[in-house]
Amino acid sequence: MLYKRCSKCSASAKEKDANFCSNCGQRFEENHCSNEECENNKINLDKNDCYCFKCGKKTTYFIKGYSQVQTDLPF
Ligand SMILES: [Zn+2]
Ligand SMILES: [Zn+2]
Repeated sequence: MLYKRCSKCSASAKEKDANFCSNCGQRFEENHCSNEECENNKINLDKNDCYCFKCGKKTTYFIKGYSQVQTDLPF
C-alpha cells in the first residue's frame, strides 16, 4: 500500500502516520475537498479520491496530480 506523497519531492511516506518527508523535510498534506464551503474540506479523504463525494469538486490531491482517475479497476 502506498502512503502519502510529498508535495515537494514526490517521495512516499515511510509510515502511514508520518508528518514530514524523510527525503526533504516537507510537511505532508492530507487529501481534502478543494471546495472551502464543503464539510469535506476539513475532513481527510482517501488519498486515491479524485473528487469529493459530497459536492463533486476536485480533491487537493487530484489537483496536484497525486491521485488519478481510475477507469480500469482490477476488480
Ligand atoms: Zn519530500
Ligand atoms: Zn466537497
